[in-house]
Amino acid sequence: MTDKIRLLFTEEQIDARIREIGKQITEEYEGKEIVLVCALKGASFFACELAKRISLDVKMDFISLSSYGSGKTSSGEVRMLKDLDFSIDGKNVIVVEDIVDTGRTLSYVMGLLETRKPESLKLCSLLDKPSRRVVDIQADYVGFEVPDLFVVGYGLDFDQKYRNLPYIGVVEND
Ligand code: 5GP
Repeated sequence: MTDKIRLLFTEEQIDARIREIGKQITEEYEGKEIVLVCALKGASFFACELAKRISLDVKMDFISLSSYGSGKTSSGEVRMLKDLDFSIDGKNVIVVEDIVDTGRTLSYVMGLLETRKPESLKLCSLLDKPSRRVVDIQADYVGFEVPDLFVVGYGLDFDQKYRNLPYIGVVEND
């Protein structure tokens, strides 16, 4: 590991927060089945942990989008690399994302999924970086708010590295 990573949230803090969100979702969707739509690859760790903390019937599906290049700067362009496997018509859908930054990616995704007539559509993001927002979008469930720093770990990468860190931290040395 060549970069210096400063710790922001420990594995224990993340686990505790995911349990809280899972409980909240369980209470709010009582008696219903939900579909968790995980945005690959960043949200994969979060989505799996969250699914385990929801005491309801949960189905999982995955989408893959590209919004960032290989560095830390957004291209602003969103492309769908992998679509859902199943129809969400009439389903209670929660999109699970790693981080809402400018909001461009999620604005595109939510708009697209809305056209597929789900019964309900909400957004759950592990992290939120509100200071960077250029599109007016707000997650319904947020793990932690973060300042305008490039964060890695718990699914979030820098050049595909660091996804496997069990904590969330900031890449410091550049
Ligand atoms: P947005 O469209 O909101 O600007 O960007 C969302 C996507 O950009 C996220 O799903 C994530 O892949 C990437 N991203 C934004 N901020 C960060 C960050 O601080 N760290 C990492 N690793 N990815 C980020």
